[in-house]
Amino acid sequence: MLHELTNTPVLGVSLGHVSLLRLDQTGGPAPGNKSFKLRHYFSEAKRLGITRLISFGGAWSNHLHALAATGYQLGVETVGIIRGELSEEKSAMLADVRRWGMRIVYVSRQEYRQRHDVAYQQQLKKRFAPCLLIPEGGASLAGAQGCMAVADIIRQRAPLAHHIVVPVGTGTTMAGLVAGLDERFEIDGISALKGAHDLAQRVQDLLSQLPCDNHAHWRILHDYHCGGFARADLSLRQFMLAFEAIHGIELDPVYTGKMLLAIHQLRVCGHWDEDAPVLAIHTGGLQGRRGYSWLS
Ligand SMILES: *Cc1c(COP(=O)(O)O)cnc(C)c1O
Repeated sequence: MLHELTNTPVLGVSLGHVSLLRLDQTGGPAPGNKSFKLRHYFSEAKRLGITRLISFGGAWSNHLHALAATGYQLGVETVGIIRGELSEEKSAMLADVRRWGMRIVYVSRQEYRQRHDVAYQQQLKKRFAPCLLIPEGGASLAGAQGCMAVADIIRQRAPLAHHIVVPVGTGTTMAGLVAGLDERFEIDGISALKGAHDLAQRVQDLLSQLPCDNHAHWRILHDYHCGGFARADLSLRQFMLAFEAIHGIELDPVYTGKMLLAIHQLRVCGHWDEDAPVLAIHTGGLQGRRGYSWLS
């Protein structure tokens, strides 16, 4: 599960002393961080005798992909509220979730914007009752709590890697990691979004509700979005293709590619001591590669 990169340079810079925690190789039918964020909802549904889970996402959502795969495996019905866009309807992701029996409900962009509204959520819960509703991306306290298990893995498998880097979308995974590790650890979160400056507050809010006495040092870096969410500029494309050719490990352009590009650039500017071990969390997302023709 832990993979240490060789020091063969990528675009002139060695990533020696960088290890990857391959969450993309864990989680069975739902590899990556999403299965950690979802585990609470499946156990809660089981506890309550509820057999239907409902959530939100776009046509390439890793979250809905993981939800549908896990639901199929465990015999739980799933419903995906999809931000409809005709041109994307045929995404390979949607074909997968359909195969796994997820009921897909397309809604307009306007309706989709209401996904965080309590009244709208109540309406959906009623329509699909009895069901549990999971916030978009699994972004919730329960999701963060599930991700504290990733911290357990780090303490067991890589106790000496005090510099940790993780990709950030909603900040839920990062919050779980920060809460699950102590002040000897320093965590850099690489935002996949452009200018999402409320992320630190979101992580802080989750942290204040998570069970922890002390936690890791943390910060979110905003300079590695490569054009914005799900965008991939030339520098990211060049880096990912070079990285994959040399290290033989697949990345996704939305999250893990940007994280490794950030590590590459931080190495160049001496962010860490030359020989300090750095642990990068490979959070998965590889199903989404199919949406990028330059990767195939
Ligand atoms: C969803 C996702 C993330 C972001 O996780 P958050 O908890 O939303 O910050 C990172 N990497 C991958 C591959 C993901 O699918």
